Amino acid sequence: MANSSNKRILITGAAGFLGSHLCDRFIAEGYQVVAMDNLITGDLRNIEHLFKLKEFEFYHHDVSKFVHVAGDLDYILHFASPASPIDYLKIPIQTLKVGSLGTHNLLGLAKAKGARILVASTSEVYGDPTVHPQTEEYHGNVNTIGPRGVYDEAKRFQEAITMAYHRYHGLETRIIRIFNTYGPRMRLNDGRVLPAFIGQALRGEDLTVFGDGSQTRSFCYVDDLVEGIHRLLLSDYAEPVNIGNPDEITISQFAEEIIALTGTKQKVIYRPLPVDDPMQRQPDITKARSILGWEPKVGRAQGLKITYEYFKSLSSDELHKKEHNTFEGYIRK
Ligand code: UDP
Repeated sequence: MANSSNKRILITGAAGFLGSHLCDRFIAEGYQVVAMDNLITGDLRNIEHLFKLKEFEFYHHDVSKFVHVAGDLDYILHFASPASPIDYLKIPIQTLKVGSLGTHNLLGLAKAKGARILVASTSEVYGDPTVHPQTEEYHGNVNTIGPRGVYDEAKRFQEAITMAYHRYHGLETRIIRIFNTYGPRMRLNDGRVLPAFIGQALRGEDLTVFGDGSQTRSFCYVDDLVEGIHRLLLSDYAEPVNIGNPDEITISQFAEEIIALTGTKQKVIYRPLPVDDPMQRQPDITKARSILGWEPKVGRAQGLKITYEYFKSLSSDELHKKEHNTFEGYIRK
């Protein structure tokens, strides 16, 4: 265990997929963890195993409103946000507010406490990229008024205000640009491709590929991402850093991999491509390699196997719960 027991860290979005894994990691490193979540898309089951620990405290709070935390804070990780395209449609205003007002509140808190803050940005700041693979120098191609604009522009604002606090107030800030990440605790019905395909396979439904399936993504296993976040937080680098796995795959190939993994007898069916769905996405991780000495270690075969085991362990009720069942309003006309 690292010698960090006197350090206290606030993690927002703590009951979510990434936030809950971050809670686990920083508890394991010996930190005092202050977890915060408004539970709109997060789930307390992801962190319930931590409630018995004296090193862990939880606040049910929306960080878009003024954030108060009593006592000292050394670090803040701002991971609160809806993160799946289907959530942005359902809760667009909250998505905009948590990336903008929420970030402003947390920067203010970091300044008041003298804490270092790391904010979760995203490959979505690159929009539908015209540069491939995406380097941190690329400024992006985002449709401000499209259905994804509420997330993309909130995150772009988040980066801008974070750099302003860094430059104007001298605040210690870190910005991670996260590419597609997967692993246990993703929400089965959040609409994203991996839970969608595995859920369909487990329910005996056909796998829905959007468009012709030639669009690409590059999937990073959650443990690799968490390692990258830990390294970036402890680094002295204030500009954005891409963290993701550069192993790029088309969505059609990905569907075939899920069919092979699950042994489902179902087939692939094609559905219209959602509006502004990026055609290709692959991180250039030169910076992460050179500045953080980081690169992903878990290949898709291994990561998918672990993730499949997790989804298989969920109850039948969970599997059949239709949290979101429509992409209406999001489909290219
Ligand atoms: N996708 C798909 N079928 C699904 C869900 C998603 O083909 O049931 C596609 C989606 O159109 C996109 C890719 O998979 O091209 C990744 O989508 P996801 O929502 O996981 O995240 P994104 O990378 O687009 O933010």
